[in-house]
Amino acid sequence: MSLTITWVAVISTLDFLIRDIRLLPIMLMAPSIALATITTPRKIVYFTVVVIAIDSIIGATLDDFATMRQLTTYVVVIVIALLTMWIASLRIQLEDDLRLARYEANRDSLTGLRNRRSIVQIATELSPLDSGRTCVAMVDIDNFKKVNDEYGHDVGDEVITEFGRRLASTVRSVDVVGRYGGEEFLLLIRGPLDIAREVTDRVVSSLRTSPISTSAGLLPIRASIGVAELGIQGLVDAIQVADRALYSAKNHGRDRIEISLSFE
Ligand code: GH3
Ligand code: MG
Ligand code: MG
Repeated sequence: MSLTITWVAVISTLDFLIRDIRLLPIMLMAPSIALATITTPRKIVYFTVVVIAIDSIIGATLDDFATMRQLTTYVVVIVIALLTMWIASLRIQLEDDLRLARYEANRDSLTGLRNRRSIVQIATELSPLDSGRTCVAMVDIDNFKKVNDEYGHDVGDEVITEFGRRLASTVRSVDVVGRYGGEEFLLLIRGPLDIAREVTDRVVSSLRTSPISTSAGLLPIRASIGVAELGIQGLVDAIQVADRALYSAKNHGRDRIEISLSFE
């Protein structure tokens, strides 16, 4: 917005100085330039450049410039316009790059889900009022090593990716899904333990009823889940408790959910 005001001020002053009506179209370009700096479309910048170029050509051919001063002013206006647009496009590019870098820093490259860093960040930002109303679920694919051994690492990767998608489409939109590492995923489930039970039940049932689609065909994949409440002790403790519950689920035969009720 400040750019628009500066821009209009510069053009108006120059216009006032030379009283050249041909500068009016350039003044009208100010909103487009402002728009280009606020939103992303680079097309607006290019469009503005083209219009100004056409305007200057038409202006130059309609009549000759009365004085050298007028010509100089006109050239200065064009140069300022181009510089402004160049800076605007640089800023747009920079903002795009920054957005992408921020996005990638928080994403797991294989699944596109949140990575461990991002999910930990979300958990630490939860307000203290949320404690007791959020649960942590550690989800680990059962016997995943066999998939790698039998079908190869690439199919293993496909299973991890598809599994991640399945998780994301099975939990509710308020829940958060992240890849914790390897074939292990972390869910932040908004709600108390009984809600976490419902959500994780859906995950396990979905795997039991629909196999995972890969280039090696449909594979029957199962998972074990350990759940704990995210209490005032914080995420690190909650993960430890959920991990213990997960370990117990594995020991009790896999393809099941264990819910830990307390920090014993
Ligand atoms: P359990 O039921 O006890 O969890 O057994 P498991 O075989 O799933 O677990 P284990 O820890 O023995 O093996 C996990 C394997 O996952 C070992 C590792 O090579 C593999 N793995 C970890 N990350 C990736 C990955 O990104 N891609 C693939 N394809 N394999 C991975
Ligand atoms: Mg496993
Ligand atoms: Mg594991």
